[in-house]
Amino acid sequence: MSEALRDQFGRSIEYLRISVTDRCNFRCQYCMPLEGLQWLPKRDILSYEEITAIVAQLAPLGLRKLRITGGEPTIRPDLPALIRQLKAVPGITDIALSTNGVRLPELSGALAEAGLDRVNMSADSLREDRIAAIARRNLAFDPVASLLAATAAGLEPLKLNVVVMRGINDDEVVDFARLTVEHPWHVRFIELMPVGDLRELTDAHVVPSPEVLARIAALGELTPAAGPRGNGPAAYYSLPGARGTVGVITPMTHTYCGSCNRVRLTADGRLRTCLYGDHEVDLRTPLRAGEPLEPLFRQALANKPKEHFLLERRVGGLRALSEVGG
Ligand code: SAM
Ligand code: SF4
Repeated sequence: MSEALRDQFGRSIEYLRISVTDRCNFRCQYCMPLEGLQWLPKRDILSYEEITAIVAQLAPLGLRKLRITGGEPTIRPDLPALIRQLKAVPGITDIALSTNGVRLPELSGALAEAGLDRVNMSADSLREDRIAAIARRNLAFDPVASLLAATAAGLEPLKLNVVVMRGINDDEVVDFARLTVEHPWHVRFIELMPVGDLRELTDAHVVPSPEVLARIAALGELTPAAGPRGNGPAAYYSLPGARGTVGVITPMTHTYCGSCNRVRLTADGRLRTCLYGDHEVDLRTPLRAGEPLEPLFRQALANKPKEHFLLERRVGGLRALSEVGG
């Protein structure tokens, strides 16, 4: 077996986030512009077989964990078929899904049956009218029904991501935190990041995580907690008697790059070694030409940057998370 993949700073890479589409049934204010989006042509998007072929070449090098994301991955037809193929790759031990949750009530059972292990859902409000305003699509979406469907299918631990925006949804922080008392859910509050085309949002909308935690403390003392399995860059706490946890993710005030163990595959087959930074390697062309990918992985990792550039505020040059598979 080949030597495990390590980048130039000794970080071993066992986690791949796979974007299966750049499209979405939402247009979240902080993620996608309402108009003018250029979708990838269908021929450029990796097929499920091509995605699986890439994973099968990375697994012998130490890849263990996958996350399926987008865009909104559940709008790609027959997502359970991809999960089934990936689950059959030797060495892959954990498959998670990032979703806005709209299709979870109908899909949770089939996804779990296909081998999906767990779900991260995003929801920025518990109120239907507000969700429609933030997502700029009115799909009559009830996040709690989706969370219950995923829980019933055993897609746990279940994490809920909330992007906190001042004056838009920050008054619901306590309502979200309260969910963790009754349900075994892990609600994570994310600081808004200045990426993509944020015309309607400014720095004034960013709510720093200490402020979020101070508001939640109104419900009771917050005790530092271990956090759920597969915990990424979040700090977790629990409320008295709670079944779940609350967490904060602070991309703007801290960096997690020293412990970063992940790389990303875009829907059109580019390997990105850092969420932000111009480090992309085309895997689709060599894959379709039948060439081996291992030398390209090694070269890409050798160039994985030490940390992201968010703090330098290179706003404007940064692609939206929907494009890079956030
Ligand atoms: N559509 C899926 C979803 O919404 O979960 C998966 C893709 S989405 C790009 C992944 C995550 O990125 C979501 O939790 C979303 O809230 C987050 N995100 C997107 N743009 C962001 C921004 N500007 N600041 C903070 N988080 C952002
Ligand atoms: Fe779609 Fe997710 Fe981006 Fe919202 S955050 S527009 S649901 S990809």
